[in-house]
Amino acid sequence: MRAPYLFALTFTLASPGIAQAAPDFFGREGYYDLSGAPEIKDLRLDYEYLRTGRPTSAETLGLVGAATVQTRRNFVYIEDTDGTLTIPFRSSNDLQTAFNFALRELYQVHPDEFVFVYLFTSFDPRVGAFFYAPEANETRGIGSPRYDQNGPSPREGFVFMNYWQSMQQMYGQFGAAVVRAQGRSIFNQEAGHRWASFIELGTGNNGSGTDLLLGRDEGHWSYFMNSGGSPMEGNAWFDNGNGTFTTTTNLQNWRFSQLDLYLMGLLPKEMVEPFFVIQNPVVQGGGRDLYGQVPTRSSPPQIIEPVTVSGTRTNFTIDNVISRNANRAPAFGAAPNTWRVVFVMLASRTAPLSEPDRTTFEGMVDNYAAGFHEGTGNRGTLDYSLIEDPVPLPIGGECTDNSNCQQTPDPLFCLPRSGGAPGLCTKPCADASSCPGDWCCADLSGTGSLACLPKTEFGDGQCPVISQPQPDAGVSDDAGPSECSCNTGEGCQEGCACDPACAMVPAPTPNLCACDLSYSCDPAANGEGNCACDPECDEGCGCTTTQQNSASVLGLAGAFGLLLLRRRRR
Ligand SMILES: [Zn+2]
Repeated sequence: MRAPYLFALTFTLASPGIAQAAPDFFGREGYYDLSGAPEIKDLRLDYEYLRTGRPTSAETLGLVGAATVQTRRNFVYIEDTDGTLTIPFRSSNDLQTAFNFALRELYQVHPDEFVFVYLFTSFDPRVGAFFYAPEANETRGIGSPRYDQNGPSPREGFVFMNYWQSMQQMYGQFGAAVVRAQGRSIFNQEAGHRWASFIELGTGNNGSGTDLLLGRDEGHWSYFMNSGGSPMEGNAWFDNGNGTFTTTTNLQNWRFSQLDLYLMGLLPKEMVEPFFVIQNPVVQGGGRDLYGQVPTRSSPPQIIEPVTVSGTRTNFTIDNVISRNANRAPAFGAAPNTWRVVFVMLASRTAPLSEPDRTTFEGMVDNYAAGFHEGTGNRGTLDYSLIEDPVPLPIGGECTDNSNCQQTPDPLFCLPRSGGAPGLCTKPCADASSCPGDWCCADLSGTGSLACLPKTEFGDGQCPVISQPQPDAGVSDDAGPSECSCNTGEGCQEGCACDPACAMVPAPTPNLCACDLSYSCDPAANGEGNCACDPECDEGCGCTTTQQNSASVLGLAGAFGLLLLRRRRR
């Protein structure tokens, strides 16, 4: 049995143009596999520090200060505000201190409920690898010893996903699709190292004999194993039927193989089809791996240039796997298929993430989690949400934007209010009958845009008289009934469908468009008018499509917000 080492993914590609990083604190250039490096292999979290809050040596020396921690929708942002960490890291001790720091801060604000922690950095840490750091394994039959370093914590390990822009740095020149696919592949490998690839299998009795399955670091599938193009490496091999085999691995190698899924507890053994390994491979035609070397079983997946080898096809079944490695326990069905996890962004004082960057990272987190889910054939799920999506609010609910408000049965919008008051979910109306009791259908803006508002919004508690729609100030009928010039300087004015503020303007001629000059609803939208901005239109006259309503709503919110601001100032 092997010790629970760290398994890192090498991602240097030999293809020209891949940017090489400066030497890191191990004195190595580029990105490489740290699995065998003792500085990483021996990395252990400071569990007493995490559990009991015992000061670290750094804290004792006054080197660790207060962090800024923010729980986002789907990740925890931890910023070393005092700049007390050594960033970029200069030693494995700096790396370890940062991990302890991030996890300690995480557990100051969240319960110890996460099975996996996925850690990213806002800065280039000068560690040229991604890796999985195992902490516990109680699963039998996956070729891994059973151990538990962190006692009562449910955490089984953590993944170091490096600089959050590293995928962009490495693959950006190949386009967004490659960034996305290889990001998924790398993430799935690190997440997948919880379970794979550690099983061994030979051709002797009960699978005994020299192992044929494993490749790099004995933690990934052999280059010569037909893994179908798994994130756990190996290749998709096409059997040419003449004693030669050609790789068909491509950049979509982020989908787990059947064997991977079995090891993860996500597929019953009955559903694992036979697979093969090429023995005694002889590379044909001067084929080279992605490092430019003659392929060995430790070579990375052949995701770019195909390689052909001759060799002996050796078939295996899942029964062979089990005879050597024992049944997986817990078996499929009893094993978990959903894991409570947390994504963490460790930021430095000198490279904090801006609000837009944090939102961008939320999208990346969603993509990684979706890539895992899809990579398992939708069989495994990462439960990573930290703030549940709020239930959409009914009319009268306090909101900050339209997405807070219900969209059925009536689409509501968030009416901004002045003086720091929260916005109000409301809806357009034709008259008070379409509003709740004690609400008015009010034309506060004086432009004819009507929306429901509580009577309490009005100084005397009475609904104001609805004023008649007034023509748009910029409307001119000089150009004839179907063209006009519009008032483009203010909010959406009813009666003028070509007002850009109504968000319905057909580019590129914003000042030439069909206007409603009739002041009656034009439900047919036949060019005489556009009911999106038509004050006469309500649900009763058929102006009910979502797009039209939303355009109307945007105009309403803007107009009302301005007006309420003026009212409150009085
Ligand atoms: Zn790996």
